[in-house]
Amino acid sequence: MALLVQKFGGSSVGTIDRIQKVAANIIKAKQEGHNIVVVVSAMYGETDRLIQLAHALSSDPNPREYDILVSTGEQASMALLAIALTQNNCSSRSYTGAQAGILTDNVHTKARILDVKTDAIRKDLANGHVVVVAGFQGVNEHGETTTLGRGGSDTTAVALAAALNADECQIFTDVDGVYTTDPKMIAEARLISQISYEEMLEMASLGAKVLQMRSVEIASKHNVPLRVLSSFNEGPGTLVTLEEKIMKKRLVSGIAFSREEAIISLSGVPNRPGIEGHILGLISEANIEIDMIAQNATDEQHTDFTFTMHRGDFPKALKLAEQLALELGAGTIKSTANVAKLSLVGIGMRSHTGVASTMFKALGNADINIQMITTSEIKISVIIEEDCLERGVRAVHQAFELDKATSEKFPAHMES
Ligand code: ADP
Ligand code: ASP
Ligand code: MG
Repeated sequence: MALLVQKFGGSSVGTIDRIQKVAANIIKAKQEGHNIVVVVSAMYGETDRLIQLAHALSSDPNPREYDILVSTGEQASMALLAIALTQNNCSSRSYTGAQAGILTDNVHTKARILDVKTDAIRKDLANGHVVVVAGFQGVNEHGETTTLGRGGSDTTAVALAAALNADECQIFTDVDGVYTTDPKMIAEARLISQISYEEMLEMASLGAKVLQMRSVEIASKHNVPLRVLSSFNEGPGTLVTLEEKIMKKRLVSGIAFSREEAIISLSGVPNRPGIEGHILGLISEANIEIDMIAQNATDEQHTDFTFTMHRGDFPKALKLAEQLALELGAGTIKSTANVAKLSLVGIGMRSHTGVASTMFKALGNADINIQMITTSEIKISVIIEEDCLERGVRAVHQAFELDKATSEKFPAHMES
Protein backbone atom coordinates (compact mmCIF):
# COMPACT_ATOMS: atom_id res chain seq x y z
CA MET A 1 0.00 0.00 0.00
CA ALA A 2 1.44 3.28 -1.08
CA LEU A 3 0.82 6.82 0.06
CA LEU A 4 0.27 9.02 -2.97
CA VAL A 5 -0.13 12.77 -3.23
CA GLN A 6 -2.06 13.51 -6.43
CA LYS A 7 -2.37 17.07 -7.70
CA PHE A 8 -4.94 18.05 -10.33
CA GLY A 9 -4.37 21.30 -12.22
CA GLY A 10 -6.95 23.82 -13.42
CA SER A 11 -7.88 22.14 -16.69
CA SER A 12 -8.18 18.76 -14.92
CA VAL A 13 -10.92 20.18 -12.66
CA GLY A 14 -12.20 22.72 -15.21
CA THR A 15 -15.81 21.46 -15.42
CA ILE A 16 -18.22 19.40 -13.32
CA ASP A 17 -17.73 16.59 -15.79
CA ARG A 18 -13.96 16.73 -15.32
CA ILE A 19 -14.33 16.78 -11.54
CA GLN A 20 -16.41 13.60 -11.78
CA LYS A 21 -13.70 11.98 -13.89
CA VAL A 22 -11.02 12.99 -11.38
CA ALA A 23 -13.18 11.52 -8.59
CA ALA A 24 -13.46 8.25 -10.54
CA ASN A 25 -9.64 8.11 -10.96
CA ILE A 26 -9.12 8.70 -7.26
CA ILE A 27 -11.65 6.02 -6.32
CA LYS A 28 -9.83 3.57 -8.59
CA ALA A 29 -6.48 4.28 -6.91
CA LYS A 30 -8.14 3.99 -3.50
CA GLN A 31 -9.62 0.62 -4.45
CA GLU A 32 -6.15 -0.54 -5.46
CA GLY A 33 -5.32 -0.05 -1.79
CA HIS A 34 -3.49 3.29 -1.82
CA ASN A 35 -3.80 6.09 0.70
CA ILE A 36 -4.50 9.29 -1.15
CA VAL A 37 -4.04 12.97 -0.47
CA VAL A 38 -5.35 15.13 -3.30
CA VAL A 39 -4.32 18.71 -4.04
CA VAL A 40 -6.53 20.75 -6.37
CA SER A 41 -6.11 23.97 -8.31
CA ALA A 42 -8.90 26.42 -9.03
CA MET A 43 -11.15 25.51 -11.95
CA TYR A 44 -9.59 26.52 -15.29
CA GLY A 45 -9.57 30.32 -15.76
CA GLU A 46 -10.95 31.04 -12.28
CA THR A 47 -7.73 32.52 -10.81
CA ASP A 48 -7.37 34.81 -13.84
CA ARG A 49 -11.01 35.86 -13.44
CA LEU A 50 -10.54 36.72 -9.76
CA ILE A 51 -7.35 38.68 -10.48
CA GLN A 52 -9.16 40.65 -13.19
CA LEU A 53 -11.95 41.50 -10.74
CA ALA A 54 -9.41 42.83 -8.26
CA HIS A 55 -7.69 44.88 -10.96
CA ALA A 56 -11.01 46.32 -12.05
CA LEU A 57 -11.10 47.99 -8.63
CA SER A 58 -7.44 48.82 -8.15
CA SER A 59 -4.26 48.77 -10.23
CA ASP A 60 -2.41 47.67 -7.11
CA PRO A 61 -4.83 45.64 -4.97
CA ASN A 62 -4.14 45.35 -1.24
CA PRO A 63 -2.04 42.15 -0.95
CA ARG A 64 -3.89 40.76 2.08
CA GLU A 65 -7.26 41.12 0.37
CA TYR A 66 -5.84 39.86 -2.94
CA ASP A 67 -4.76 36.64 -1.24
CA ILE A 68 -8.13 36.14 0.43
CA LEU A 69 -9.81 36.67 -2.92
CA VAL A 70 -7.67 34.44 -5.13
CA SER A 71 -7.53 31.62 -2.57
CA THR A 72 -11.30 31.14 -2.98
CA GLY A 73 -10.77 29.49 -6.38
CA GLU A 74 -9.04 26.47 -4.85
CA GLN A 75 -11.55 26.32 -2.01
CA ALA A 76 -14.43 25.89 -4.45
CA SER A 77 -12.58 23.07 -6.26
CA MET A 78 -11.66 21.21 -3.07
CA ALA A 79 -15.23 21.20 -1.79
CA LEU A 80 -16.66 20.20 -5.18
CA LEU A 81 -14.25 17.27 -5.45
CA ALA A 82 -15.01 16.13 -1.89
CA ILE A 83 -18.73 16.33 -2.67
CA ALA A 84 -18.22 14.22 -5.80
CA LEU A 85 -16.15 11.62 -3.90
CA THR A 86 -18.64 11.37 -1.03
CA GLN A 87 -21.54 11.05 -3.49
CA ASN A 88 -19.73 8.00 -4.90
CA ASN A 89 -19.38 6.39 -1.46
CA CYS A 90 -15.74 7.36 -1.05
CA SER A 91 -15.36 9.03 2.33
CA SER A 92 -13.54 12.30 1.86
CA ARG A 93 -12.80 15.53 3.69
CA SER A 94 -11.59 18.79 2.19
CA TYR A 95 -9.18 21.22 3.84
CA THR A 96 -8.13 24.79 3.16
CA GLY A 97 -4.37 25.39 3.21
CA ALA A 98 -4.61 26.68 6.78
CA GLN A 99 -6.64 23.66 7.93
CA ALA A 100 -4.12 21.37 6.26
CA GLY A 101 -1.32 22.97 8.28
CA ILE A 102 0.49 24.70 5.40
CA LEU A 103 2.46 27.36 7.28
CA THR A 104 4.09 30.10 5.23
CA ASP A 105 6.11 33.29 5.64
CA ASN A 106 4.38 36.67 5.56
CA VAL A 107 5.00 37.61 1.93
CA HIS A 108 1.50 37.98 0.53
CA THR A 109 0.96 36.89 -3.11
CA LYS A 110 4.24 34.95 -3.25
CA ALA A 111 4.63 33.30 0.14
CA ARG A 112 7.01 30.42 0.77
CA ILE A 113 6.06 27.34 2.74
CA LEU A 114 8.00 27.15 6.02
CA ASP A 115 6.46 24.07 7.59
CA VAL A 116 3.62 21.60 7.16
CA LYS A 117 1.75 20.30 10.23
CA THR A 118 0.32 17.01 9.07
CA ASP A 119 -1.49 15.77 12.22
CA ALA A 120 -5.02 16.37 10.93
CA ILE A 121 -4.28 14.79 7.55
CA ARG A 122 -2.60 11.75 9.08
CA LYS A 123 -5.58 11.19 11.36
CA ASP A 124 -8.01 11.30 8.44
CA LEU A 125 -5.82 8.95 6.38
CA ALA A 126 -5.74 6.51 9.30
CA ASN A 127 -9.54 6.64 9.32
CA GLY A 128 -9.64 5.72 5.64
CA HIS A 129 -10.62 9.12 4.25
CA VAL A 130 -9.37 10.63 1.03
CA VAL A 131 -8.01 14.04 2.03
CA VAL A 132 -8.53 16.88 -0.45
CA VAL A 133 -6.39 19.99 0.07
CA ALA A 134 -6.72 23.39 -1.59
CA GLY A 135 -3.50 24.12 -3.49
CA PHE A 136 -1.72 27.49 -3.82
CA GLN A 137 -2.52 28.72 -0.29
CA GLY A 138 -1.32 28.65 3.27
CA VAL A 139 -1.48 30.61 6.48
CA ASN A 140 1.13 32.86 8.07
CA GLU A 141 2.08 33.23 11.74
CA HIS A 142 -0.67 35.83 12.22
CA GLY A 143 -3.37 33.49 10.94
CA GLU A 144 -3.66 35.39 7.65
CA THR A 145 -4.31 33.59 4.37
CA THR A 146 -1.36 33.70 1.97
CA THR A 147 -0.90 32.46 -1.60
CA LEU A 148 2.17 30.88 -3.16
CA GLY A 149 2.50 32.62 -6.53
CA ARG A 150 1.09 31.51 -9.90
CA GLY A 151 1.28 27.78 -10.39
CA GLY A 152 1.67 27.33 -6.62
CA SER A 153 -0.55 24.26 -6.30
CA ASP A 154 2.38 22.16 -7.56
CA THR A 155 4.35 23.41 -4.57
CA THR A 156 1.54 22.58 -2.12
CA ALA A 157 1.51 19.02 -3.48
CA VAL A 158 5.28 18.51 -3.25
CA ALA A 159 5.50 20.08 0.22
CA LEU A 160 2.74 17.75 1.44
CA ALA A 161 4.43 14.75 -0.18
CA ALA A 162 7.71 15.67 1.55
CA ALA A 163 6.06 16.21 4.95
CA LEU A 164 4.05 12.97 4.72
CA ASN A 165 7.01 11.06 3.29
CA ALA A 166 4.75 9.96 0.42
CA ASP A 167 5.83 7.25 -2.00
CA GLU A 168 5.21 9.51 -4.99
CA CYS A 169 3.92 12.97 -5.79
CA GLN A 170 1.87 12.82 -8.98
CA ILE A 171 1.15 16.06 -10.85
CA PHE A 172 -1.79 15.49 -13.22
CA THR A 173 -2.03 18.08 -15.98
CA ASP A 174 -3.28 18.61 -19.54
CA VAL A 175 -0.22 17.16 -21.33
CA ASP A 176 1.29 13.66 -21.04
CA GLY A 177 4.33 14.77 -19.02
CA VAL A 178 7.42 16.90 -19.45
CA TYR A 179 8.38 17.30 -23.11
CA THR A 180 11.58 18.42 -24.82
CA THR A 181 9.79 21.76 -25.21
CA ASP A 182 6.22 23.04 -24.86
CA PRO A 183 4.20 20.58 -26.97
CA LYS A 184 1.53 23.24 -27.46
CA MET A 185 4.06 25.26 -29.47
CA ILE A 186 6.14 22.53 -31.14
CA ALA A 187 4.15 19.48 -32.24
CA GLU A 188 7.37 17.44 -32.72
CA ALA A 189 8.31 17.84 -29.05
CA ARG A 190 8.98 14.45 -27.47
CA LEU A 191 7.87 13.15 -24.09
CA ILE A 192 10.85 12.74 -21.71
CA SER A 193 10.54 9.60 -19.59
CA GLN A 194 13.01 10.69 -16.88
CA ILE A 195 14.60 14.03 -16.10
CA SER A 196 16.93 15.09 -13.27
CA TYR A 197 15.81 17.52 -10.57
CA GLU A 198 18.56 19.86 -11.65
CA GLU A 199 17.47 20.01 -15.29
CA MET A 200 13.81 20.30 -14.33
CA LEU A 201 14.67 23.15 -12.00
CA GLU A 202 16.37 25.00 -14.85
CA MET A 203 13.50 24.26 -17.25
CA ALA A 204 10.96 25.54 -14.71
CA SER A 205 12.94 28.64 -13.79
CA LEU A 206 13.48 29.46 -17.47
CA GLY A 207 9.79 29.42 -18.32
CA ALA A 208 8.48 25.82 -18.72
CA LYS A 209 5.41 26.32 -16.57
CA VAL A 210 4.54 22.62 -16.41
CA LEU A 211 5.92 22.66 -12.84
CA GLN A 212 6.31 25.65 -10.54
CA MET A 213 10.03 26.16 -9.87
CA ARG A 214 9.62 26.10 -6.11
CA SER A 215 7.96 22.66 -6.28
CA VAL A 216 11.05 21.23 -7.99
CA GLU A 217 13.32 22.85 -5.39
CA ILE A 218 11.41 21.18 -2.56
CA ALA A 219 11.26 17.84 -4.39
CA SER A 220 15.01 17.95 -4.94
CA LYS A 221 15.80 18.97 -1.36
CA HIS A 222 13.68 16.19 0.14
CA ASN A 223 14.24 13.67 -2.63
CA VAL A 224 10.51 13.35 -3.38
CA PRO A 225 9.83 11.11 -6.41
CA LEU A 226 7.89 13.51 -8.62
CA ARG A 227 5.86 12.36 -11.63
CA VAL A 228 4.12 14.56 -14.19
CA LEU A 229 1.30 12.84 -16.04
CA SER A 230 -1.91 13.45 -17.94
CA SER A 231 -5.30 13.48 -16.31
CA PHE A 232 -6.82 12.84 -19.75
CA ASN A 233 -4.71 9.96 -21.12
CA GLU A 234 -3.19 6.94 -19.40
CA GLY A 235 0.58 6.64 -19.47
CA PRO A 236 3.68 6.66 -17.30
CA GLY A 237 4.38 10.39 -17.78
CA THR A 238 7.74 11.82 -16.72
CA LEU A 239 9.62 10.94 -13.56
CA VAL A 240 11.69 13.76 -12.07
CA THR A 241 14.46 12.11 -10.09
CA LEU A 242 18.13 12.02 -9.13
CA GLU A 243 20.62 12.35 -11.98
CA GLU A 244 22.28 9.03 -11.13
CA LYS A 245 18.98 7.17 -11.52
CA ILE A 246 18.50 8.30 -15.10
CA MET A 247 18.98 5.49 -17.57
CA LYS A 248 19.26 7.37 -20.83
CA LYS A 249 21.30 10.51 -20.67
CA ARG A 250 21.12 12.99 -23.52
CA LEU A 251 23.55 15.77 -24.24
CA VAL A 252 20.71 18.27 -23.97
CA SER A 253 17.28 17.59 -22.53
CA GLY A 254 15.05 20.41 -23.54
CA ILE A 255 14.28 23.97 -24.51
CA ALA A 256 12.44 26.39 -22.25
CA PHE A 257 11.31 29.86 -23.17
CA SER A 258 9.74 32.92 -21.74
CA ARG A 259 7.98 35.58 -23.80
CA GLU A 260 7.55 38.14 -21.11
CA GLU A 261 11.00 39.72 -21.25
CA ALA A 262 12.29 43.24 -21.84
CA ILE A 263 15.77 44.69 -22.41
CA ILE A 264 17.35 48.07 -21.63
CA SER A 265 20.77 49.20 -22.75
CA LEU A 266 22.52 52.31 -21.41
CA SER A 267 25.43 53.42 -23.59
CA GLY A 268 28.20 55.85 -22.74
CA VAL A 269 28.20 55.01 -19.02
CA PRO A 270 31.35 56.40 -17.33
CA ASN A 271 33.81 53.58 -16.79
CA ARG A 272 34.79 53.92 -13.13
CA PRO A 273 34.84 51.64 -10.09
CA GLY A 274 31.53 51.20 -8.29
CA ILE A 275 29.30 52.31 -11.15
CA GLU A 276 27.69 48.87 -11.63
CA GLY A 277 26.89 48.62 -7.93
CA HIS A 278 25.33 52.07 -8.06
CA ILE A 279 23.10 51.23 -11.05
CA LEU A 280 22.01 47.85 -9.72
CA GLY A 281 21.48 49.24 -6.21
CA LEU A 282 18.96 51.76 -7.51
CA ILE A 283 17.21 49.09 -9.57
CA SER A 284 16.91 46.68 -6.68
CA GLU A 285 15.68 49.45 -4.35
CA ALA A 286 12.81 49.86 -6.81
CA ASN A 287 12.08 46.12 -6.35
CA ILE A 288 12.89 45.33 -9.96
CA GLU A 289 14.36 41.90 -10.45
CA ILE A 290 17.14 41.92 -13.02
CA ASP A 291 17.66 38.74 -15.02
CA MET A 292 20.66 39.02 -17.36
CA ILE A 293 23.41 41.64 -17.20
CA ALA A 294 26.16 42.44 -19.69
CA GLN A 295 28.74 45.18 -19.74
CA ASN A 296 31.40 45.97 -22.27
CA ALA A 297 33.84 48.82 -22.56
CA THR A 298 33.38 50.87 -25.74
CA ASP A 299 36.48 53.00 -25.17
CA GLU A 300 38.82 53.83 -22.27
CA GLN A 301 36.26 56.00 -20.48
CA HIS A 302 32.92 54.43 -21.35
CA THR A 303 30.95 51.22 -21.19
CA ASP A 304 27.61 49.94 -22.42
CA PHE A 305 25.50 48.49 -19.65
CA THR A 306 22.68 46.17 -20.73
CA PHE A 307 20.16 44.28 -18.61
CA THR A 308 16.94 42.31 -18.99
CA MET A 309 13.92 42.01 -16.75
CA HIS A 310 10.38 40.68 -16.66
CA ARG A 311 8.19 42.71 -18.99
CA GLY A 312 5.90 43.71 -16.12
CA ASP A 313 8.78 45.71 -14.62
CA PHE A 314 9.76 47.38 -17.89
CA PRO A 315 7.97 50.76 -17.48
CA LYS A 316 9.42 51.21 -13.99
CA ALA A 317 12.90 50.14 -15.11
CA LEU A 318 12.86 52.46 -18.13
CA LYS A 319 11.97 55.46 -15.96
CA LEU A 320 14.89 54.62 -13.68
CA ALA A 321 17.23 54.20 -16.65
CA GLU A 322 16.24 57.66 -17.90
CA GLN A 323 17.01 59.17 -14.49
CA LEU A 324 20.33 57.33 -14.40
CA ALA A 325 21.29 58.51 -17.87
CA LEU A 326 20.76 62.13 -16.76
CA GLU A 327 22.62 61.64 -13.49
CA LEU A 328 25.61 59.88 -15.06
CA GLY A 329 25.70 61.92 -18.20
CA ALA A 330 25.36 58.65 -20.13
CA GLY A 331 24.67 58.70 -23.83
CA THR A 332 21.66 56.98 -25.29
CA ILE A 333 19.16 54.46 -23.98
CA LYS A 334 18.04 51.64 -26.23
CA SER A 335 15.14 49.56 -25.02
CA THR A 336 12.48 47.15 -26.18
CA ALA A 337 9.78 45.16 -24.43
CA ASN A 338 9.33 42.84 -27.40
CA VAL A 339 11.99 40.28 -26.62
CA ALA A 340 11.87 36.68 -25.47
CA LYS A 341 14.32 34.35 -23.78
CA LEU A 342 15.11 30.97 -25.33
CA SER A 343 17.12 28.53 -23.18
CA LEU A 344 18.71 25.19 -23.89
CA VAL A 345 19.07 22.91 -20.86
CA GLY A 346 21.11 19.74 -20.40
CA ILE A 347 23.44 18.14 -17.87
CA GLY A 348 25.57 16.85 -20.77
CA MET A 349 26.83 20.41 -21.35
CA ARG A 350 29.03 20.03 -18.31
CA SER A 351 31.32 17.63 -20.10
CA HIS A 352 30.78 18.43 -23.77
CA THR A 353 31.90 21.37 -25.82
CA GLY A 354 30.28 22.56 -29.01
CA VAL A 355 26.76 22.88 -27.66
CA ALA A 356 26.75 26.67 -27.79
CA SER A 357 28.15 26.79 -31.33
CA THR A 358 25.53 24.29 -32.57
CA MET A 359 22.80 26.37 -30.95
CA PHE A 360 24.06 29.70 -32.31
CA LYS A 361 24.55 28.26 -35.80
CA ALA A 362 20.97 26.95 -35.77
CA LEU A 363 19.69 30.39 -34.82
CA GLY A 364 21.93 32.06 -37.40
CA ASN A 365 20.72 29.73 -40.15
CA ALA A 366 17.17 30.65 -39.20
CA ASP A 367 18.19 34.31 -39.61
CA ILE A 368 17.62 35.11 -35.96
CA ASN A 369 19.70 37.80 -34.30
CA ILE A 370 20.94 37.11 -30.76
CA GLN A 371 20.78 40.21 -28.57
CA MET A 372 22.26 38.78 -25.40
CA ILE A 373 23.70 35.50 -24.10
CA THR A 374 24.15 33.98 -20.65
CA THR A 375 25.40 30.54 -19.75
CA SER A 376 25.67 28.39 -16.67
CA GLU A 377 26.98 24.88 -16.21
CA ILE A 378 23.87 23.24 -17.64
CA LYS A 379 22.11 25.93 -19.66
CA ILE A 380 22.56 28.51 -22.40
CA SER A 381 20.05 31.36 -22.67
CA VAL A 382 19.68 33.89 -25.45
CA ILE A 383 17.54 36.98 -25.83
CA ILE A 384 15.91 37.29 -29.25
CA GLU A 385 13.03 39.22 -30.80
CA GLU A 386 9.74 37.83 -29.57
CA ASP A 387 8.42 37.43 -33.11
CA CYS A 388 11.27 35.00 -33.84
CA LEU A 389 10.70 32.83 -30.79
CA GLU A 390 8.75 29.97 -32.31
CA ARG A 391 11.10 29.78 -35.29
CA GLY A 392 14.06 29.82 -32.93
CA VAL A 393 12.73 27.05 -30.69
CA ARG A 394 11.97 24.93 -33.75
CA ALA A 395 15.44 25.48 -35.22
CA VAL A 396 17.28 24.59 -32.00
CA HIS A 397 14.97 21.62 -31.37
CA GLN A 398 15.81 20.28 -34.83
CA ALA A 399 19.53 21.03 -34.56
CA PHE A 400 19.83 18.83 -31.46
CA GLU A 401 17.49 16.18 -32.90
CA LEU A 402 15.29 16.48 -29.84
CA ASP A 403 12.34 15.13 -31.82
CA LYS A 404 14.16 11.79 -32.13
CA ALA A 405 14.18 9.15 -29.41
CA THR A 406 17.88 8.60 -30.06
CA SER A 407 20.26 10.83 -31.90
CA GLU A 408 23.42 9.76 -33.71
CA LYS A 409 24.88 13.23 -33.71
CA PHE A 410 24.20 13.60 -29.99
CA PRO A 411 24.38 10.07 -28.57
CA ALA A 412 21.95 8.89 -25.92
CA HIS A 413 24.57 7.30 -23.71
CA MET A 414 27.47 9.46 -22.80
CA GLU A 415 30.15 9.52 -20.19
CA SER A 416 29.81 12.28 -17.70
P1 ADP B 1 -1.96 22.95 -14.71
O1 ADP B 1 -3.16 23.81 -14.83
O2 ADP B 1 -2.27 21.49 -14.78
O3 ADP B 1 -1.10 23.32 -13.54
P2 ADP B 1 -0.12 24.39 -16.46
O4 ADP B 1 -0.78 25.16 -17.54
O5 ADP B 1 0.36 25.13 -15.27
O6 ADP B 1 -1.12 23.20 -16.04
O7 ADP B 1 1.12 23.56 -17.04
C1 ADP B 1 0.95 22.68 -18.12
C2 ADP B 1 1.35 23.37 -19.42
O8 ADP B 1 2.76 23.63 -19.40
C3 ADP B 1 1.16 22.57 -20.67
O9 ADP B 1 -0.16 22.66 -21.14
C4 ADP B 1 2.19 23.13 -21.63
O10 ADP B 1 1.62 24.05 -22.52
C5 ADP B 1 3.14 23.91 -20.73
N1 ADP B 1 4.54 23.53 -20.93
C6 ADP B 1 5.57 24.39 -21.14
N2 ADP B 1 6.72 23.74 -21.32
C7 ADP B 1 6.45 22.43 -21.22
C8 ADP B 1 7.24 21.24 -21.33
N3 ADP B 1 8.56 21.29 -21.56
N4 ADP B 1 6.62 20.04 -21.19
C9 ADP B 1 5.30 19.98 -20.96
N5 ADP B 1 4.49 21.07 -20.87
C10 ADP B 1 5.05 22.28 -21.00
N1 ASP C 1 -4.78 28.57 -9.39
C1 ASP C 1 -3.43 29.08 -9.24
C2 ASP C 1 -2.96 29.67 -10.55
O1 ASP C 1 -3.70 29.69 -11.52
C3 ASP C 1 -2.48 28.03 -8.73
C4 ASP C 1 -2.27 26.82 -9.62
O2 ASP C 1 -3.07 26.58 -10.55
O3 ASP C 1 -1.31 26.11 -9.39
O4 ASP C 1 -1.87 30.15 -10.62
MG1 MG D 1 0.40 24.75 -13.22
